[in-house]
Amino acid sequence: MHEEPIDPFNGDPADPAAGLHDPGDDAELDPLTDVERQDVLEDLADLEIYQALLAPIGVRGLVIECEDCREPHYFDWDLLRGNLRHLLSSGRPRVHEPAYDPDPDHYVTWDYARGYADGVHDTLTEGTDEGAGSAG
Ligand SMILES: [Zn+2]
Repeated sequence: MHEEPIDPFNGDPADPAAGLHDPGDDAELDPLTDVERQDVLEDLADLEIYQALLAPIGVRGLVIECEDCREPHYFDWDLLRGNLRHLLSSGRPRVHEPAYDPDPDHYVTWDYARGYADGVHDTLTEGTDEGAGSAG
Protein backbone atom coordinates (compact mmCIF):
# COMPACT_ATOMS: atom_id res chain seq x y z
CA MET A 1 0.00 0.00 0.00
CA HIS A 2 1.64 3.21 -1.12
CA GLU A 3 -0.66 6.07 -0.51
CA GLU A 4 0.68 9.61 -0.39
CA PRO A 5 -1.37 12.08 1.52
CA ILE A 6 -2.49 14.84 -0.75
CA ASP A 7 -2.76 18.37 0.48
CA PRO A 8 -6.03 19.57 -1.02
CA PHE A 9 -4.73 23.13 -1.18
CA ASN A 10 -1.25 22.30 -2.43
CA GLY A 11 -0.46 24.85 -5.11
CA ASP A 12 -4.07 25.82 -5.38
CA PRO A 13 -4.40 29.53 -6.21
CA ALA A 14 -7.86 29.46 -4.68
CA ASP A 15 -6.41 28.78 -1.25
CA PRO A 16 -8.79 30.76 0.96
CA ALA A 17 -5.92 31.98 3.12
CA ALA A 18 -3.99 33.46 0.21
CA GLY A 19 -4.15 37.16 -0.48
CA LEU A 20 -6.47 37.72 2.41
CA HIS A 21 -6.33 41.22 3.70
CA ASP A 22 -8.22 42.77 6.50
CA PRO A 23 -9.61 46.17 5.57
CA GLY A 24 -9.98 46.99 9.25
CA ASP A 25 -6.24 46.77 9.75
CA ASP A 26 -4.13 49.87 10.09
CA ALA A 27 -4.03 51.65 6.78
CA GLU A 28 -0.72 51.30 5.00
CA LEU A 29 1.49 54.32 5.27
CA ASP A 30 0.86 56.23 2.14
CA PRO A 31 4.11 57.66 0.84
CA LEU A 32 3.99 61.17 -0.48
CA THR A 33 3.87 61.65 -4.21
CA ASP A 34 6.88 63.31 -5.80
CA VAL A 35 4.93 66.53 -6.10
CA GLU A 36 3.83 66.51 -2.48
CA ARG A 37 7.33 65.69 -1.39
CA GLN A 38 8.70 68.57 -3.43
CA ASP A 39 6.16 70.89 -1.84
CA VAL A 40 7.23 69.90 1.63
CA LEU A 41 10.90 70.33 0.75
CA GLU A 42 10.17 73.80 -0.59
CA ASP A 43 8.25 74.66 2.56
CA LEU A 44 11.22 73.53 4.61
CA ALA A 45 13.57 75.69 2.56
CA ASP A 46 11.22 78.68 2.85
CA LEU A 47 10.94 78.09 6.56
CA GLU A 48 14.71 78.41 6.95
CA ILE A 49 14.62 81.76 5.18
CA TYR A 50 11.63 83.06 7.10
CA GLN A 51 13.09 82.08 10.43
CA ALA A 52 16.42 83.70 9.58
CA LEU A 53 14.65 86.93 8.62
CA LEU A 54 11.84 87.07 11.13
CA ALA A 55 13.22 85.53 14.30
CA PRO A 56 15.60 88.50 14.84
CA ILE A 57 12.63 90.90 14.84
CA GLY A 58 10.73 88.89 17.42
CA VAL A 59 8.62 86.51 15.35
CA ARG A 60 8.48 83.12 17.02
CA GLY A 61 6.74 81.15 14.33
CA LEU A 62 3.84 80.96 11.92
CA VAL A 63 0.12 80.91 12.41
CA ILE A 64 -1.79 78.46 10.24
CA GLU A 65 -5.53 78.45 9.79
CA CYS A 66 -6.55 74.88 10.50
CA GLU A 67 -9.10 73.42 8.11
CA ASP A 68 -10.20 70.85 10.66
CA CYS A 69 -10.71 73.09 13.65
CA ARG A 70 -11.54 76.26 11.76
CA GLU A 71 -9.27 78.14 14.07
CA PRO A 72 -5.70 79.37 13.90
CA HIS A 73 -2.88 77.22 15.24
CA TYR A 74 0.38 78.78 16.31
CA PHE A 75 3.55 76.88 15.53
CA ASP A 76 7.04 77.70 16.68
CA TRP A 77 9.80 77.48 14.06
CA ASP A 78 11.16 74.27 15.52
CA LEU A 79 7.72 72.75 15.71
CA LEU A 80 7.01 73.61 12.10
CA ARG A 81 10.28 72.14 10.95
CA GLY A 82 9.65 69.01 12.99
CA ASN A 83 6.17 68.65 11.50
CA LEU A 84 7.43 69.01 7.95
CA ARG A 85 10.22 66.49 8.50
CA HIS A 86 7.75 64.12 10.07
CA LEU A 87 5.53 64.51 7.03
CA LEU A 88 8.48 63.71 4.76
CA SER A 89 9.46 60.58 6.63
CA SER A 90 6.06 59.17 7.49
CA GLY A 91 3.85 60.51 4.73
CA ARG A 92 1.27 61.79 7.14
CA PRO A 93 0.96 64.99 9.08
CA ARG A 94 1.40 64.99 12.80
CA VAL A 95 -1.50 65.43 15.10
CA HIS A 96 -2.04 69.01 16.06
CA GLU A 97 0.61 70.15 18.40
CA PRO A 98 0.32 73.90 18.46
CA ALA A 99 2.37 76.02 20.76
CA TYR A 100 0.97 76.33 24.23
CA ASP A 101 -0.74 79.59 25.12
CA PRO A 102 0.90 81.53 22.30
CA ASP A 103 0.99 85.28 22.00
CA PRO A 104 -0.57 85.97 18.59
CA ASP A 105 1.55 89.10 18.24
CA HIS A 106 4.59 86.91 17.81
CA TYR A 107 3.26 84.81 14.96
CA VAL A 108 2.74 85.67 11.31
CA THR A 109 1.11 83.88 8.39
CA TRP A 110 2.97 82.15 5.56
CA ASP A 111 1.76 84.94 3.29
CA TYR A 112 3.17 87.60 5.54
CA ALA A 113 6.47 85.77 5.82
CA ARG A 114 6.61 85.30 2.06
CA GLY A 115 5.86 88.97 1.45
CA TYR A 116 8.46 89.98 3.98
CA ALA A 117 11.08 87.75 2.43
CA ASP A 118 10.26 89.09 -1.02
CA GLY A 119 10.58 92.64 0.27
CA VAL A 120 13.94 91.93 1.81
CA HIS A 121 15.06 90.23 -1.37
CA ASP A 122 14.05 93.28 -3.41
CA THR A 123 15.86 95.60 -1.03
CA LEU A 124 19.00 93.50 -1.22
CA THR A 125 19.01 93.28 -5.00
CA GLU A 126 18.01 96.89 -5.51
CA GLY A 127 20.85 99.15 -6.49
CA THR A 128 23.42 96.41 -6.64
CA ASP A 129 23.34 96.08 -10.39
CA GLU A 130 21.52 99.06 -11.82
CA GLY A 131 22.51 98.43 -15.40
CA ALA A 132 21.28 94.84 -15.60
CA GLY A 133 18.07 95.51 -17.45
CA SER A 134 15.42 96.90 -15.19
CA ALA A 135 12.00 95.35 -15.58
CA GLY A 136 10.46 98.72 -14.98
ZN1 LIG B 1 -6.56 71.87 14.04
